[in-house]
Amino acid sequence: MGPPGAGKGTQGELIAERFGIPRLSTGDMLREARKGGTHLGREARRYMDAGELVPDDVILGIVDEALGAPQAGRGFLFDGFPRTIAQADGLAALLGERDEGLDAVLALEVPDDELIARLSGRRVCERCGHVTHTRVVGEAAECPVCGGQLSQRSDDREETVRRRLGVYREQTAPLLEYYAEGETGLTAVDGTGDIELITGRLFRALDEVGTGTSA
Ligand code: AMP
Repeated sequence: MGPPGAGKGTQGELIAERFGIPRLSTGDMLREARKGGTHLGREARRYMDAGELVPDDVILGIVDEALGAPQAGRGFLFDGFPRTIAQADGLAALLGERDEGLDAVLALEVPDDELIARLSGRRVCERCGHVTHTRVVGEAAECPVCGGQLSQRSDDREETVRRRLGVYREQTAPLLEYYAEGETGLTAVDGTGDIELITGRLFRALDEVGTGTSA
């Protein structure tokens, strides 16, 4: 968990790699659906571009489907889900049906001014999906990994970013308490500093809480 720009995608990939499990990012799934021009993609578009949340029943539907995929057998890492109390309750029900449960909930903490700086400079490769920042690539339009075209996510524009941060505070932040007071507990991790430094903190936090999967 964490506000937009906290590093959930970047760090989530590294955690998923370490444990050999899939990373289930509802944001990525919605962006794929938009690219593919599916009904789901068309429905999600107006919420995403306004910085609002896609309705809970739509999100729970795609998560339910993803949990049934064969590669989810060894466990999974959720990135950007759940984002509301209703989604957390829905997730608990979906996991209960499968006799599964959460091992850990991690929350990345980053101050607002740093989030805004990260989001406004974020660039994504249209070809390979590599995520970088103008602090690294300057105003270059070419992906340093594959040479594809770098662009700004449509919801990373300033006005949408402000709305996304507001939505996080109103609808998602209450979940921190929900998990902190629940059975799984919540581990807050400092999300500032170099990428490797933050990864180290997350791995240590996971070692401390213990997970059902051995790395
Ligand atoms: P993300 O890539 O996680 O920042 O998500 C981008 C956008 O997709 C969000 O601003 C929402 O509009 C939508 N989205 C992604 N995950 C969820 C979710 N769990 N619940 C509702 N909307 C979501």
